[in-house]
Amino acid sequence: MKIVLATHNEDKRTEMVAILSELPLQLLSLEDFPEIGEIIENGGSLRENALIKARTVHLLTGLYAWADDTGLEVDALDGKPGVYSARYAGENCSYADNVRKLLQDMENIPENMRSANFKTAIALVGENMELVSEGVVKGKITIKPKGVGGFGYDPVFYVLDKNKTYSEMKMTEKNQISHRGKAIQNMIKLLQSQ
Ligand code: IMP
Repeated sequence: MKIVLATHNEDKRTEMVAILSELPLQLLSLEDFPEIGEIIENGGSLRENALIKARTVHLLTGLYAWADDTGLEVDALDGKPGVYSARYAGENCSYADNVRKLLQDMENIPENMRSANFKTAIALVGENMELVSEGVVKGKITIKPKGVGGFGYDPVFYVLDKNKTYSEMKMTEKNQISHRGKAIQNMIKLLQSQ
């Protein structure tokens, strides 16, 4: 089965490829289709955004398209940054800008009120087929970044079950328990039940 991974984010792609590498799939990337530009993600939820990306790439390539949309939902910020996680600190902001803004916005929030969920929705769209899966991990936002691995909000997302941040994990460990890893495993189950 040939699948186009519908993301321009190299970090997300690396994790997806690592998790999917044991399956008999031929994974293509958007680099293989340079004519496909930026896809506007204007859905109101992670699920809708994943579907928008996968439907667009399927339409333009005729191939199965797999899209991941991810958001960090912080309880004390009423679920923000959520669907706006990529541009939380503004257009063209860096991962570091987003982390800095998040820590600033949470400056006065005490340790016991810093709970958050990391969520991924994955959509797989093909001819007469639309599947959506989700994965969620409960954690909390640290006071300061910790660890050197990963990307995005990883240095400030502390996983309760593991007693460390995503950035303190090796990629294989993160992939085994992460929001993205869970969403991928759920998608594999959906595919196998087809
Ligand atoms: P996207 O809209 O799915 O590309 O992701 C939104 C933003 O969330 C990205 O720009 C990253 O900053 C962040 N993000 C996505 N996945 C992860 C992850 O696994 N760890 C940390 N940050 C992530």
